[in-house]
Amino acid sequence: MFKFKVADLILVTTGKDKGKKGKIEKVFTTDNKITIAGVNIYKRHKKVTKNQAAGIYEITRPIDVAKVALICPKCQKQTRVGFVLEGKVKKRICKKCKGILS
Ligand SMILES: [Zn+2]
Repeated sequence: MFKFKVADLILVTTGKDKGKKGKIEKVFTTDNKITIAGVNIYKRHKKVTKNQAAGIYEITRPIDVAKVALICPKCQKQTRVGFVLEGKVKKRICKKCKGILS
């Protein structure tokens, strides 16, 4: 089970975007990577083609999950994700407040 889900609020803990917060847009479980709105943006200059105008395009690149920390929606703290079993269902919990995450 993956620790992060789309729409989780995270904090970037290292790299050029250190300190930025954002919501997860996509999760790439096989690569252990995620994309976050407004984080790890690269600018690309593009020339005119049939389908696009020339200009600067911003591309959100995936970032390694090791570089981010989850912000708990319950206690609002930077935390790590743990897992508990509720019956047969594995749930994510905040390691700080033990609150169950969606
Ligand atoms: Zn918490």
